[in-house]
Amino acid sequence: MSDLVLLDFDGVINALTRKPMRSAYNEWESTQLLGFPILYAREVIDAVNAVGSKPHVTVRWLTTWEAATAELTALGLDNFDYIPPLPDFTGDLRIGDWKPAAGLTVAESWPGTVIWIDDDTWIEQEVTRASRPNITFLRPTPSLGLSKKQLRLLDEFTTP
Ligand SMILES: [Mg+2]
Repeated sequence: MSDLVLLDFDGVINALTRKPMRSAYNEWESTQLLGFPILYAREVIDAVNAVGSKPHVTVRWLTTWEAATAELTALGLDNFDYIPPLPDFTGDLRIGDWKPAAGLTVAESWPGTVIWIDDDTWIEQEVTRASRPNITFLRPTPSLGLSKKQLRLLDEFTTP
């Protein structure tokens, strides 16, 4: 069985706040990438890399960062491939309304479990509405990103 992790960046790795939630993680790091402020906990990076290095797990970015995801290796993240919009998508790539269709298409043909991580409520609703039995959704709080509990769940879900 192979597991697929669909990974958003903003609000998932990148905490969307100026004040890091120190009750959640002791160590936060901040930087700039392509002109954007980035705030993240090293523990989240390490946990995502650890899941991605499990032999049966594939991690794919599903984020408006798209081709720029290669830049995210500067944070210490492994270089995961990204899922592009479906070929017929003609809207604004930066908005992200292409993500549910692109992710669901990949999930449909995926033979194992799909863990979809995105902080957007409407994306969770779209994915839930599609009611694919092989998809489990994790929705971090945008100002924190993945919590320790969610990291534990991610590890459990990807344990054969
Ligand atoms: Mg997001």
